[in-house]
Amino acid sequence: MMQNHKYDYLIVGSGLFGATFAHEMTKAGKTCFVIDKRDHLGGNIYCKEIEGINVHWYGAHIFHTNDKYLWDYVNQFAEFNRYTNSPIANYKGELYNLPFNMNTFYKLWGTKTPKEAKEKIAKQVEHLNIENPKNLEEQALKLVGTDIYEKLIKYYTEKQWGKKATDLPAFIIKRLPVRFTYDNNYFNDKYQGIPIGGYNKIINGLLDGIEVKLNTDFFENRSYYQNIARKIVFTGKIDRYFDNCFGELDYRSLTYEVEVHDTENYQGNAVMNFTDAETPYTRIYEHKHFEFGTQQKTVITREYPVKNTKNAEPYYPVNDERNNSILKKYQNLAAEEENTIFGGRLAEYKYYDMHQVIASALTKAKYELRK
Ligand code: FAD
Ligand code: UDP
Repeated sequence: MMQNHKYDYLIVGSGLFGATFAHEMTKAGKTCFVIDKRDHLGGNIYCKEIEGINVHWYGAHIFHTNDKYLWDYVNQFAEFNRYTNSPIANYKGELYNLPFNMNTFYKLWGTKTPKEAKEKIAKQVEHLNIENPKNLEEQALKLVGTDIYEKLIKYYTEKQWGKKATDLPAFIIKRLPVRFTYDNNYFNDKYQGIPIGGYNKIINGLLDGIEVKLNTDFFENRSYYQNIARKIVFTGKIDRYFDNCFGELDYRSLTYEVEVHDTENYQGNAVMNFTDAETPYTRIYEHKHFEFGTQQKTVITREYPVKNTKNAEPYYPVNDERNNSILKKYQNLAAEEENTIFGGRLAEYKYYDMHQVIASALTKAKYELRK
């Protein structure tokens, strides 16, 4: 017997994946209902206004993409400013430009030409004979040599992930450009910026006219929510969806310490990375600089990496061999769930940036509409 469902789609999670999917389906005439266990929309791109400043509540978010279609897509909902991310690394009080570029090399070694810098790196690693890097440490050494690895990568990485760099996959460090030009832009993409007025504008635009319910955990009333719609779009943890039947996937978590300072400018830059082992936090964000703010006060956030305990937010998937093999088993189960679509950083268990999450949601929505 056909069941009469109230909605076409129940969307679990109002982050970028859920909101984009809901937007596309609503545009195509489907009915959507979005629930989120948090008390606000937007998942990890949510901004909270403090002292007239948009505070990136779950860590700094800089939108960047090479894809003109995705850039135009987000620009429908907000105008973007010209912010270019250029973090500063602070190693025991010594400051270096990031990503690794001619400014970094000059400060470290006094090298002035790309040739000199390349020779310096090659000399540092020639005796290591790294052909195919097997882990993050080998990959980093091959790319930038021992000095940069020691001062700017090793300890930051080990704090961030709570593991030895030799136990981490190489791809993580390949996110960062290594450039032989004097260019401090953290990203290589053609398009980059911060939505003027904050990320909430994007989420509110995507979810405009769509029914949403906050403070609502899918698992607290699963049997009810399972039957409320023809299909479910699930953007929470994939292991939890299947009752952790193959074991729990590892996630890396973070905690945040937010402070208001009665000064106009605290650190002179939006992002400062602390790359030594002793400082317990990895980054300090000064949020006003994302939007060139001129407020009298400033708001900073210290970001501390922490173990993913039961109540901690699962921010980063840990795509090492163990977790990827557990993930495969969950993906096999997911493929059999005809009425559930899994999407986003937690349900796909991928280290996705925002543009990749939107691309994934658009692809899955298109596929769904074609069926
Ligand atoms: P999320 O934003 O995590 O949304 C999932 C939502 O589902 C959450 O709101 C959650 O509350 C809800 N949910 C989960 N389980 C349930 C349940 N059982 N019931 C109800 N609701 C549930 N990307 C960039 O492009 N640039 C950056 O600079 C950048 N910086 C980042 C910095 C940090 C510290 C982090 C952690 C990520 C960063 N990202 C960045 C990545 C970006 O945050 C993600 O790509 C994107 O926000 C993921 O969207 P999502 O919808 O997949 O997941
Ligand atoms: N990383 C580093 N030193 C830095 C910044 C980054 O070693 O100053 C390494 C670290 O392993 C980190 C990875 O590069 O996990 C990716 O950095 P990114 O800034 O992209 O991390 P995210 O913003 O996603 O936390």
